Amino acid sequence: MRFEIITIFPGFFAGFFEHGIVRRAQAEGLVNVSVHDLRAFTHDRHRTVDDRPFGGGEGMVLKPEPLAEAMESLGLEVRGRREQNHKRVLRSAQDDTLEHRATRVILLSAQGTPFTQAVARDLVKMQRIVLICGRYEGVDERINELYCDMELSIGDYVLSGGELAAAIVVDTVMRLVPGVLGNEASGEFESFGVTDAEIDSDEEGVPRSQHGSGGLLDYPHYTRPAEFAGLRAPDVLLNGDHQQIRRWRREQQLRKTLRNRPDLLEKAILSEQDRRFIEEIREEEN
Ligand code: SAM
Repeated sequence: MRFEIITIFPGFFAGFFEHGIVRRAQAEGLVNVSVHDLRAFTHDRHRTVDDRPFGGGEGMVLKPEPLAEAMESLGLEVRGRREQNHKRVLRSAQDDTLEHRATRVILLSAQGTPFTQAVARDLVKMQRIVLICGRYEGVDERINELYCDMELSIGDYVLSGGELAAAIVVDTVMRLVPGVLGNEASGEFESFGVTDAEIDSDEEGVPRSQHGSGGLLDYPHYTRPAEFAGLRAPDVLLNGDHQQIRRWRREQQLRKTLRNRPDLLEKAILSEQDRRFIEEIREEEN
């Protein structure tokens, strides 16, 4: 899988790539990240990437020409033509798995659709993801219209540039690439993860330190020592009864989701037992 980031601050990403999973995934050749300096696609002495907004108003806008040139340098045609070509390849190859190996061009924007774990699960099917980092007041809208497949926002707040947002998208999607997290963990078992039924493995009889979160938040985690600062790790986690551990963790997920993100419960897949437990928590609190 390949990520291409277009930015006026390529140096921003240096530290980000040097640590943890992001560094390892690249070193092992599981993903490839390239950062492209937008100023390399300018032709004036000052390497100008921005200009004043038409219609007046605050700030500056990233000019369309350098961005379009950056797109062309990545072999990216305008969206309409790209879609046509892709369909032609699909038809001649008669292989619908190719659909999952395509390119997605993303404009990072506070006006975008929310970036969620579900979006990340969709993006990881792509062969290449191109991320355009805006600055100032944003990017000339014609670049969005011509080249971008989607606008993504990482939250309801305004950053000063798309670089942080791009780093978040790369980090989140990358850890879903098969092999990146290794065997010890899987994105399926974390907060916002899929349901057990969607996990392609037989969990029965396996010590279930994890299970599909089915759209809920993760449960709390503990490690040694069993006693710390007068607080004991929950006994249920120490007794080795995996059925009990599993139930306890599910209840903790429900409790935490109810407290911190009740909106997620509406969409989560809940069993009768889950619903009864939620009722119990609500009664406890009244
Ligand atoms: N004028 C824009 C608005 O009000 O929506 C804000 C522009 S912001 C100062 C500059 C750049 O930061 C944007 O073009 C975008 O690339 C990035 N950005 C800001 N907030 C973001 C968010 N919540 N998610 C993703 N990117 C964001």
